[in-house]
Order: sequence, then structure tokens, then C-alpha cells
Amino acid sequence: MKPPPFEYAAPDSVAEVLELLQGSPEDTVLLAGGQSLVPVLNMRMAQPRVVVDLNRVQGLDTIEDTTDGRARFGSMVRQRRLETEPLVRERLPLLTLATRHVAHLPIRSRGTLGGSLAHADPAAELPATVSALDGRLRLQGPDGDRTVTAGEFFVGPLTTAIEPGELLVGVEVDVPPAGTGSAFVEVARTHGAFALVAVAALLRLDSGGSIDHVRLALAGVGGTPYVPAWLDETALGEAPDGALFRRIGERVSQEVEPFDDIHATAAYRGRVAGVLAARALAVAAAGASEGTAA
Ligand SMILES: Cc1cc2nc3c(=O)[nH]c(=O)nc-3n(C[C@H](O)[C@H](O)[C@H](O)COP(=O)(O)OP(=O)(O)OC[C@H]3O[C@@H](n4cnc5c(N)ncnc54)[C@H](O)[C@@H]3O)c2cc1C
Repeated sequence: MKPPPFEYAAPDSVAEVLELLQGSPEDTVLLAGGQSLVPVLNMRMAQPRVVVDLNRVQGLDTIEDTTDGRARFGSMVRQRRLETEPLVRERLPLLTLATRHVAHLPIRSRGTLGGSLAHADPAAELPATVSALDGRLRLQGPDGDRTVTAGEFFVGPLTTAIEPGELLVGVEVDVPPAGTGSAFVEVARTHGAFALVAVAALLRLDSGGSIDHVRLALAGVGGTPYVPAWLDETALGEAPDGALFRRIGERVSQEVEPFDDIHATAAYRGRVAGVLAARALAVAAAGASEGTAA
């Protein structure tokens, strides 16, 4: 199928994008890697009047290591760069591990970090990963800039806090301290397919071997990434053993609210979520002890 006719604009600057968006914000869409948008247009699930292509906009494809323990990504950073960029592989291995599960190489070569976050597919890997990394998303609109947390950004399936007329310009994430173990585990129908359930985990041990930092975020178990708010209370100060991780997994299974779809029942996803959460924590704990990521 082909998309219905639309006007096409390829601006060079964020200022021009914002100007174009102000023309008719409800009727204008942004094109990043096109890997989700183009199928949507071809299937005529969206019929915008104007498509604004972000691919020539200057300054949206940078990756910066900030001095305050955070890393800053422009929204047009290609997914493939999250796998290959040394800074990301060394300092944020969770992003590299997660991105390897996203689709296939040609799709990751075009698809962008910002496009995946803005599309907000509940089964996508990067929204859960950015949630685990305490991401903050920078939006720019007619009234200036604003920053929202990942928890505020993901509102529901394919729905975010981006207002008409706004653009996602970038994402900042915490760089986990040295010695933090990272794990990304997923069950999918085939490698490269969207996750049925996926879990991102970070875990660090103190000098006595007790957990002193832990984060979990799951994809595929509800409309938005699931981040257990009770995890610190349950795990901090505890020894990283299998019994603790199974207990956490059981609570995850009880608390997530997955959907039934043609690929899996909600009950199946709930059970898998618990098993994968326990497994991801165990892998991250092993990485924390050995200083590796898996
Ligand atoms: C066969 C296939 C398999 C796939 N498998 C997976 C998978 O396993 N896991 C996974 O996570 N993804 C998967 N994807 C989706 C892929 O990761 C897309 O790249 C991603 O979802 C969207 O990124 P994009 O840069 O292509 O964005 P686009 O398709 O260009 O845009 C997606 C949406 O985000 C909006 N948007 C884009 N950038 C911005 C911005 N800066 N500000 C505001 N709005 C913006 C667009 O207007 C559009 O609504 C798959 C895609 C295909 C075709």
C-alpha cells in the first residue's frame, strides 16, 4: 500500500521544525528513522497533511558524556550507534544489550532512539531501558523547553506526554557507577521480533557484598514500562541470592497488568515477567561481582 498524499518538509534546524509544527500541529507528523511511521502511513492508520523530516536537522544526533554522571543523547541517534559507540558500550552497557534485541540490523541502522521512545510501543526494548536508567526526556515546543521523567513521558500504549507542536530533542540518563552489573533478558517469538516480555536490570553491591543499588524495568506487561516502586525497600541491604530474586519475581508477576493479544495470554506474560525479572537480577548480580555485563 502507499500513503495518501502529504506535503513534505526537510528543515535544517530545530527552530524551523518548531515553526513548521506550529502551522497545524494536529495534522503534522515528524519523520525520524521511519521504521514505525512509514508502515503506519502506508496502512493509512495516520493521514497527516504535513510530514516533517528530522534527518537533516543539525545537532540532534550527538552523544555526550556529561561531567555530572549522566549521558546525553540527541533524539536522532540511530539505534545502531547504541550498539557500536564505545562510550555507550563501556559506560552504559545496558543500552547496548537492550538494543541488540531491537528488530534487525537494517531497521536499527535507520531507526532512532527518539523515534522508539516517541512511538512508545509497550513491547519495545528502549522505553523500558531508558526507564531503568532513570531517563529524563527533553521536549521543545512553542513555549520553550521542558524536561519530563520517563515515568511521566510514557502515558499509555503508543501515547506519550509530547504535546502537539512539541518535539523530543533528547534524552539524559544516569551513567551507573563503576561495578554496576547490567542485564537485559527477553522472550520473543523470534530473535528481532518485539518482546513478549523483556526485563532490564541494574544492580550494584557494596564492599560487604550487599545490594546498594538496584533498578528493574519491564516491557510487554502493560501499556507503559513497569518499574517496581517497592524494589529499593525489598532489596537494598540484602545479599544478592536466588531466594530474594525469586521473591521479587513473584511480586512482579502479581503486580503487572499485561494484556492478552494474538501472541500470548496475559496470564502467560505475567508468569514470564516474574521468571525473567528473577533471572535478570541474578545475571546483573553476577556481573556486579565480576565487573561484566550480559
Ligand atoms: C520489521 C520491524 C521490526 C521491528 N522490531 C522492533 C523490535 O523488536 N523492538 C522495537 O523496539 N522496535 C522494533 N521496530 C520498530 C523500530 O525500532 C523503529 O525504529 C522505532 O519504533 C521507531 O523509530 P524511528 O526512528 O524509525 O521513528 P519513526 O518511525 O520515524 O517515528 C515513530 C513515531 O515517533 C514520532 N517521532 C519520531 N521522532 C520524534 C521526535 N524527535 N519527536 C517527536 N516525535 C517523534 C513520529 O512522528 C512517529 O509517530 C521494528 C520495526 C520494523 C519495521
